[in-house]
Parts: sequence; C-alpha cells; structure tokens
Amino acid sequence: MHLIKRIINKSSPHIFIIKRLSSSEVRVRFAPSPTGYLHLGGLRTALYNYLYAKNQNGKFLLRIEDTDQTRLVPGAMEALIEDLQWAGIDIDEGPGKFGGNYGPYIQSQRTKIYLDSVKTLLDNGTAYRCFCTERRLDLLRKEAVRARQIPKYDNKCRHLTEKQINEHLAKQTPFCIRFKLDDYEEPINDLIYGSVHHNVSDNEGDPVIIKTDQFPTYHFANVVDDHLMAVTHVFRGVEWQISTTKHLLLYKAFGWQPPKFGHLPLLVNADGTKLSKRQGDIGIKHFRDKGYFPTSLVNYVVSAGGGFPHEQFSKPKVYSMSELSEKFNIEKVNSHPSRLNPLVLDDFNRLHIIKLLESETSKTALVENVTNLIKETYPNESNLDLNTNHIRSVLQWSAQRLTFVKDLTSPKLSFLWVKPTNFNQKDLTTDQLETLVKIITKAEFNKDNLNNVLKDFSKQENIKFPVLMKCLRSALSGLKEGPGVAEMMEILGQQVVVQRLKDVLENGTKTSETKKAENAA
Ligand code: GLU
Repeated sequence: MHLIKRIINKSSPHIFIIKRLSSSEVRVRFAPSPTGYLHLGGLRTALYNYLYAKNQNGKFLLRIEDTDQTRLVPGAMEALIEDLQWAGIDIDEGPGKFGGNYGPYIQSQRTKIYLDSVKTLLDNGTAYRCFCTERRLDLLRKEAVRARQIPKYDNKCRHLTEKQINEHLAKQTPFCIRFKLDDYEEPINDLIYGSVHHNVSDNEGDPVIIKTDQFPTYHFANVVDDHLMAVTHVFRGVEWQISTTKHLLLYKAFGWQPPKFGHLPLLVNADGTKLSKRQGDIGIKHFRDKGYFPTSLVNYVVSAGGGFPHEQFSKPKVYSMSELSEKFNIEKVNSHPSRLNPLVLDDFNRLHIIKLLESETSKTALVENVTNLIKETYPNESNLDLNTNHIRSVLQWSAQRLTFVKDLTSPKLSFLWVKPTNFNQKDLTTDQLETLVKIITKAEFNKDNLNNVLKDFSKQENIKFPVLMKCLRSALSGLKEGPGVAEMMEILGQQVVVQRLKDVLENGTKTSETKKAENAA
C-alpha cells in the first residue's frame, strides 16, 4: 500500500512528491556528512547497509547530510561517491544521476521540508520556540561548569505563555525551535547490541531541532528524512546509539513508526587501541592508491566486523560482493569492537591476485592492467617486453609472492620489462653461448636447479663462476646489479631467458668478438 503525500510549498515552486512506503521492501541509507574523505569507518557503515540491502533484495540510498554548512568541504561529496563506487557499493537512490522518488537526497536542498514538518510538532505541543539569547545560554553553560554540573539548557521557554510568545513574534525576536525531551524508559531493541537503554533527558536539556538560521539540526533532519524516505533499517556507528533514544522520541511525537536500528561497534587497532592512521584511520583513497583491490578492503572490513557464518573466515579466502551479500546475517555482526589487523589486509590482496589468475577472463584483464602499468612506468622506453605470454608467466610466478600488482614495476624488477640492449662482453664465445642455450632449453626452471646447471657449465667450459654470472646478468638484464642470476632466470621464465640469450647470439656476440679483435690489436 502506498500513501502519497504532496508537500506544496508556497514560497517555492518545487513540488515534492513523497511516497511513504508501508510495503515490505527493505530500504537502508548511508548518510555521511560531506566534511572530508571516506574513511574506513564510513566504508564499514556503508558496506553493512549495502550488504543488508542486497541480502534482502532491498534498496541502498545515499543521503548527504550537509546541514552544518560550516563544516562542508568542497568536492567531498563527489569524492565520497567515487570511493563508494570504487569499493563496489552500488547506489540505488541518491543525489544527481542516481535518482529515486524520494529526493532531493541532499539535506540542504530539503530545508522547506523540515520547516513544514516542524509545524506538526509546534501544533501538537511537542516542540516550542525558544527566544533565549546566545548570551543567556552562555551564562547557563558557565554556571553549570562552575557548579561542576553537566551543562544543559534549563528548558525555560517551554513554559512561555501564548501571550509571551506572541509578543516575541511581534517584536521579531530571533528564535530557534526546541523539542520537548521527555523521559524515555523503554529500552531500544538494537539489532546488533540487543536491548540497550539510555535516558537522554537525564543529561540534556531540550535539544534545538531548527536553528535560528532556519536550518535543521542533524537529529531532526535525520528523523524526518528517514521517515519520508521510507527507510526501514538504520545501521550506523555506535557513537550514534545514544542519540537513538532522542530519535525515537521524535518519531513518537510525529506519530510515525520508527525504523529498526542496529549500531556498529568501534573499529580499533589489532591491540584494541584507538584506530591509528597507519592501521586504517585514513581515507579509502589511500588504500586505493597503495594498490589494494576493492575486494581486499571489503573482505578486510567484514572479516573484522563479522556478520557471517563462523566458517566463512576460518579459511583464508576472498569473497566477492555478491557472495558476501548472499551469506550476510545482521544478527551475526559483532557487538564487541572490531579489531583491524593490517597484515590480514595484505593477505587478502595476495589471495585476490591468486583468485584473479584462476579465471581466464580476469587473468586477461590483469595482463592488460600490468601492460598499462609497464607503459606508464617506462614512458620513454622503446624496448619493452610486453609479450602477453611473458606477462602471464611473470604473474603466475608472482602469485604467491606479491602483495601489490604494482610491485611488478618496482625498479629492482625492471629487467622483467626492459629488454637489454647493451650486451657488451668479451668473456663468452659464440660456441659457449650456443651450448648454454641448449642446456638451458632442457633445464628445469627453478632457482636451485639453475644454480647447479650454471655451476656445472662454468666447470665444463672452464669459466670462472662469477665471470659467467656477470655475463649472464648483462645478457638477461643489461644491468650490473639485481637479484641473483638464477633467481632472475626463474622469474623471467625459460622462454624469455632463451630468447634473450638468442638475441645476444644474433647481435651481441658480434660486438664481443669485435671487442676481442680490438683487444688483440
Ligand atoms: N550524518 C551522520 C554522520 O555523518 C549520519 C549518522 C546516521 O547515520 O544517522 O555520520
């Protein structure tokens, strides 16, 4: 059953058509304030909302809570959206291009809606205008501090008579609107924490819901929007749990049915201390720039936060977003602080590389990714080895060893991609090189075996081992330093090693023989 409500605002030509659903569709929202970049905590909140929505065939909404205009950071909303999309969180309804029938999805564009809604509370006596000056409020605060009491508004304007109110209004005294905060004795049935109880009126005076500048405060806008956007479940950080009582009182004052609430515990370092910059209290972009896959980050967050059958993370494995959403169970989300161990994040990244190599399609995409990475790293290099088979075999070799794909283009592995051009040695003859190529073509390609093969060859040909190594290093990489030669050969793989030695036979030995002649002269 749909109840369609139209709010036609006289002072604005906009007509907001608001559908209030009482159907069974699950609707969740992520409601960040655009005051900075998306952090791991924000990603966790968005992710659990998203997983729940997908698990329940529901909708995931993005609402921008920008009513505190003093804290806005230009470009933060766009960056936030980009980070969410990078993480694989699809927005069903939200600002701009995302659309949806419950917009606008940016609170600063909904001020008329809040002003219209607050009339209901003024009319039914659950809210009132407060004409107290900033000076009086400041004095109250100071007095409370002096008396070692919790500073709170003394609810003075609750008791103004009709006449007093009208006098203030006639004088155009500036006012804000406050909500009458009553005792709330019932516990909240938190979907994650179970039954919890906070009595806000013990610690707070009546809260402001519409400020003097006519902007709503977070609590009011949040409740009005969750209701009008037909949000069925609110999953947010535990720091908001204490506010939930206030929100429930607002729902009651409106006569609205509240959504269900679940609060997500704190994210902490592996040792239980406050999340440090190094361990995760940093923008998602930082992880992205470092070379983590979105899947790794998502698995990292949920492995710490829970929400899955126990066996899910008992074996090291990375799960796709759809695998995660299918198995997600909100009741299994941990209510104790979620400990983040950065080493686990690296493990997930390695596992993801392995997983990508298991399917032909993802492997092809990865090869393309590496090709682009090489081109970006060596923009002026004309002699790059971009052969697909070569890249594939390097990836296969690296699968168990690499944390980041981008490590493949680190300077110490440049020999993998930049083909040597300056082979210039006088210690190996053409015959010796040809023999070596034959031996190597048959050799088993692992570091230890290659070392033995090269030792035997040096004895057989009566070449000093270090001299042979120097020649081979130059032939294979054109470099004077780098990993051990046998290791380098193992990484390059048999085909490329043979090819590079053959290249030397074609071009390089001529140089060396010419050199020999020059030396003899
Ligand atoms: N705007 C609040 C925040 O930035 C949203 C809290 C909530 O989800 O209700 O975290």
